[in-house]
Amino acid sequence: METQIGHEIELAKQLLEHSELVAIPTETVYGLAANALSLEAISKIYQVKNRPQFNPLILHVANVTEMKKYVSHLPSKLEILIQKFSPGPLTVLLPKSDLVPDIVTAGSSKVAIRIPNHPLTLELLQYLDFPLAAPSANISGRVSPTSAEHVLEQLSGKIPYILDGGETKIGLESTIVGYDLISQQILIHRLGGLSIEDIEEFLLEKVKLNIHHDTPETPGQLKSHYATSTELLVGEIDELILDKTIENVVIINYHKTKDYSVIKQFILTTQNTTTEAAKNLFRIMREADKCGASHILCEWAPNEGLGKAINDRLKKASFNKT
Ligand code: AMP
Ligand code: MG
Repeated sequence: METQIGHEIELAKQLLEHSELVAIPTETVYGLAANALSLEAISKIYQVKNRPQFNPLILHVANVTEMKKYVSHLPSKLEILIQKFSPGPLTVLLPKSDLVPDIVTAGSSKVAIRIPNHPLTLELLQYLDFPLAAPSANISGRVSPTSAEHVLEQLSGKIPYILDGGETKIGLESTIVGYDLISQQILIHRLGGLSIEDIEEFLLEKVKLNIHHDTPETPGQLKSHYATSTELLVGEIDELILDKTIENVVIINYHKTKDYSVIKQFILTTQNTTTEAAKNLFRIMREADKCGASHILCEWAPNEGLGKAINDRLKKASFNKT
């Protein structure tokens, strides 16, 4: 199969209507989209990504009216949050309606659903009479794509079409939130492109972190994920570099280069902001991976704003599988 890249919404629509896969741009990362109501289409997602069957998919819809069709109950606090931050990097996890096939939720009674903020994809969703299931458009466990070219690198020949919407604006996956009926608190299941501070400042209350990697509420939150082929180590560069042959390493600095002559040094943010670092993270991880280094040494981001989600991704990218 030859993979085409283009801007044709009509072609994307026709392919999706025939249960084919199309990579779509969003503000977070590129998604690998399929008709969420077609079992044939959904099973192609799992095949192409080599994704474990227990890892459920996020539904993408055009607006809140559509969203309500696929959940059986929407607590008002979550609805207020959705009205404020959607379209945007906010996914809500709620009891599913009967319309949602079990394969999408990996058998769970809850569905994860969001309204992506990208003009091409929002237009596409408006022409479709089904929601799109769309995990990130990469091989399972690898770095998420933030451009059409990144999608092509991993999925060339495996999908018919990539809808090219340019570089993604946010660069990290969505923040997944749920709701605790008893404490009436917002639960954070996955850190992502919407910061905890933004949610708390808007709601004027604290949220509860519910991120457990061993018995995860969101089974996709595995310990190892977002991995480069080159081994990635995260921490203080001065310490990490001690027992390395420095001619063989690349460094991903947060804001400033170091005084080492290594293969190459990258900087996540020139303006010293966590939002800029988030936007650059996955692209720079891919570029660092191509340097032929023995190791990628990377600094932690400040633990604030999107820095928390960046550090979550770095932790998983550096998790030692042995
Ligand atoms: P991805 O789209 O590749 O970023 O992965 C989506 C992630 O959303 C999954 O790995 C899960 O962690 C989470 N997720 C999606 N649907 C559900 C669900 N029904 N229940 C719990 N977690 C979900
Ligand atoms: Mg993913």
